[in-house]
Amino acid sequence: MSTIDEIKSKIDITDLVSEAGVQLRHAGKNYTGFCPFHDNKHTPAFVVWPETGTWRCFGQCNEGGDIFKFIMKRENLEFKEALDKLAGRAGVEIPTYSKHTLEQKEAYDNLRTLLEDALIFYRRHLLANANILGYLGGKRGLSDAAIETFGLGYAPNAWDSTLTHFTQRGYSNQDLLEAGLISERESGGYFDRFRNRIMIPIRDENGKMSGFGARIVDPNDVPKFLNSPETPIFSKGRLLYGLDRARKPIRVADQAVIVEGYFDVIALHQAGYENVVSPMGTALTEDQLRLLKRFSRRIVLALDPDTAGQKAVLRGLDAARQAMDREGELGFDARGLLRNEARLQADLRVASIPDDLDPDEIVTRDRDEWARLIESAKPIVTHVMETLAAGQNLGDPKVKNQIAAQVVPLIEDLPNALERDTYRQALARMLRVDEGALAGTQTPPPRGRRMRDTQNVQKQAATEKPKVAVTVSSSKKAEAYIIGVLFRNPGLIYRLDRLLQEYGLIALNAEDFEHTDHQMLFELIRESVEQDKTEQHAFVVESLPESLQSLMQDLSTQADKPELLEEKLLEELLRGVIKLRRVAAGENLNQLRFLQEEAYQSGDLRAASYQGLVLQHTRLLRDLDQAYRRMTLKRVN
Ligand SMILES: [Zn+2]
Repeated sequence: MSTIDEIKSKIDITDLVSEAGVQLRHAGKNYTGFCPFHDNKHTPAFVVWPETGTWRCFGQCNEGGDIFKFIMKRENLEFKEALDKLAGRAGVEIPTYSKHTLEQKEAYDNLRTLLEDALIFYRRHLLANANILGYLGGKRGLSDAAIETFGLGYAPNAWDSTLTHFTQRGYSNQDLLEAGLISERESGGYFDRFRNRIMIPIRDENGKMSGFGARIVDPNDVPKFLNSPETPIFSKGRLLYGLDRARKPIRVADQAVIVEGYFDVIALHQAGYENVVSPMGTALTEDQLRLLKRFSRRIVLALDPDTAGQKAVLRGLDAARQAMDREGELGFDARGLLRNEARLQADLRVASIPDDLDPDEIVTRDRDEWARLIESAKPIVTHVMETLAAGQNLGDPKVKNQIAAQVVPLIEDLPNALERDTYRQALARMLRVDEGALAGTQTPPPRGRRMRDTQNVQKQAATEKPKVAVTVSSSKKAEAYIIGVLFRNPGLIYRLDRLLQEYGLIALNAEDFEHTDHQMLFELIRESVEQDKTEQHAFVVESLPESLQSLMQDLSTQADKPELLEEKLLEELLRGVIKLRRVAAGENLNQLRFLQEEAYQSGDLRAASYQGLVLQHTRLLRDLDQAYRRMTLKRVN
């Protein structure tokens, strides 16, 4: 997540707008109020969409944007100033690109190069070891192609072979230590960290080498899995195994599947299920979910039935979670997951893997069975309810009480009232009790975190304003993609504009982008094609303000599709722009009709002037639909 997105996710736009003196009223899922930027005190023409963190004035200003735009306009600030201000408010630190960080980046690059060398070293040892190759191909069922693709290797059974090899190649002990390839003896001296283990290279989401996971070969060795130590480039809680290969398939399928182990990931990829990742042998973290959500908000956890099953009944979910935090098992903390689900606006589901089988055994047995399993994944609360009830005598009042005591607090935690009602009814049905009877079953909250949460809930109830995390809407993704592509090929802007014109639409402009950071980047790109002093792309790179550098890099990486021809790119751009405009026009039209209705009812004269805007938007929407149909037809022909 970029710094800008992080700030957005932590600031509620309705708070910001209210503090600026605008009285907001609920209007469907949005809020309306009087525009603070123009002075019409007759009809509320100012609308806030908490879900996307955006606002728009349908009155005189006819303008909108995100929290940055709001603050910039309200306080007459430059983007950088608005960024600093809102970062301070959100408690987010803005990374600086000083000389120091450049040097550090170079040091990290060196570390990664060393790790790439180590991969080759371990790989050579694997290819020379028929036993291990036999194990991988036989018991593990991995093809040569998969072994190669995932860069598997073998660390020799010796205390100093890695050490000697790399020392001879000119690396210092310090380098090797920092890369996590060797360890230091208490008595002084160094030794290989990984000995007699299968080596699994771990890359970050951009494919950059970050470290290794290492599995035992000798069943008597411990631990079963050993990872690289935490280094600046290997942070277990922030990496997901396989994401570098899975990110595209996740986008395409609009679904990510999380499994427990490295070998599960490899086996599933080999079977053609490429939208699969795993954590680093530890419990899933919020950072990992955030990272994954950049690619899809639909996330399925494929869990061993035991992980959230009977153990949970006996010990309570919190205790079960602690037990699960051991290395090698994916933690299942229903409450934590639910909280993240709400905060990240993700759709988290759980699929149970049957019969004590591993995913690789399932795909080997029946490839389609995996697809069916994932298809049947359940929402977290349903999953908890069903696993708790499995094999229990639901006629026993004690059992009923036990299950209710675990599930009710989860339900109470859900931010959405409708969801709470639905689950309460489902639980009552399952336990065959009256819904009212479920009220008194809550166990008192433990001190600490839970207390704070309760206070938050009360605070929320007092202001009657649900806290909604900012969603990464599909339009935001479309915006990001357009910017990313144009950044790589600024010259495409002209061709895109001509194409839009052919379809009867106006040229791409900053107003097409809802997010201030995107607007700024777009304006830079536009500027780059209107000057002729510097090469266009270089112009953008050089003019990029510090605050937008990392965002630009992200967008550019995400839009990297070297396999696409320019014609195809152009077509994708056109589709993206039409999509953006259709979504915006549709939403604006809905809102306008609502405002118009309200104005009529209060006998306000502005109602008539809304009519003009409604017509204008209706026409726009019709033109866009026409363009979309023409574009689709053209593709078919
Ligand atoms: Zn206004």
